[in-house]
Amino acid sequence: MDFNFIKPEPTPWTWKQAWPNLLAPPVCVACETILPSGETTLFCRLCLSFINSTGWRKVCLGCGARFPGELTVIQDCAYCQSWPRRFASVTSLSNYEGLVQDLVIRMKNRNGEITSLQMGKLLAQHLSKNATEGLIKQIDWVTPIPTHWHRRLRRGFNVSELLVESVCQVPVWKGKSKKLLATQRKTGKQGTLSISQRFQNVKKCFKISGKTDLQGATILLIDDVMTSGATALQALQLLKNAGANAVHLGIIARGIGRQTAKVRIRKDVSEGANVAG
Ligand SMILES: [Zn+2]
Ligand SMILES: [Zn+2]
Repeated sequence: MDFNFIKPEPTPWTWKQAWPNLLAPPVCVACETILPSGETTLFCRLCLSFINSTGWRKVCLGCGARFPGELTVIQDCAYCQSWPRRFASVTSLSNYEGLVQDLVIRMKNRNGEITSLQMGKLLAQHLSKNATEGLIKQIDWVTPIPTHWHRRLRRGFNVSELLVESVCQVPVWKGKSKKLLATQRKTGKQGTLSISQRFQNVKKCFKISGKTDLQGATILLIDDVMTSGATALQALQLLKNAGANAVHLGIIARGIGRQTAKVRIRKDVSEGANVAG
């Protein structure tokens, strides 16, 4: 797999495109620096370089966790090798740390729409640049992890839906956005629970939404953060039970910090693994 990191792509400059920017120049979503015209995302080059976290280049295809080391892809790691079910692939923008952690927190707050859409744009670039041929061409549906209406009402939007909106701007995935899952009960916040409590907390929290035939379908599931994997694995099981052939997962950030102490790090990922967060 050819694994590239995101680079800003300059676009041709015209007066017609530029004059609104003279009145209200675009600023970086993360640091509010005024951006030069022609950037395709609302991030400055410095923030993009932090988001890329290029020192962490060994990526687990099984769960999206990143480790220091050479640019390589491994099939599973200490964090996901015991999972009962497998995604066809997991693509993450970064581990849940540093600037990405700050941006994800901002995405989840009121007025987080712009940040969510822009982070979705980066995820879309990442998915389309790094994806296997199967992921690019064979996706039937791109679907978000749903949020309970109560939480949605409080926040005003569902972060995962905004990410899907951005991902489906990629030409090959245009028109493939579909809400295949819905919540059927409210769950407690995952952040305060132990790993086993998190799996218990999300048990049967989703149901299949609508009457789309999922028999043999290839699905790209989108979420903002995955930590224990409990929520995403719950969605995976439902989609598989409904007949899906393969489910890929795209996430902004992979949280592994708090699990580290409980997981025996396997030799191939042990060098300098993230034990801090
Ligand atoms: Zn910036
Ligand atoms: Zn893994």
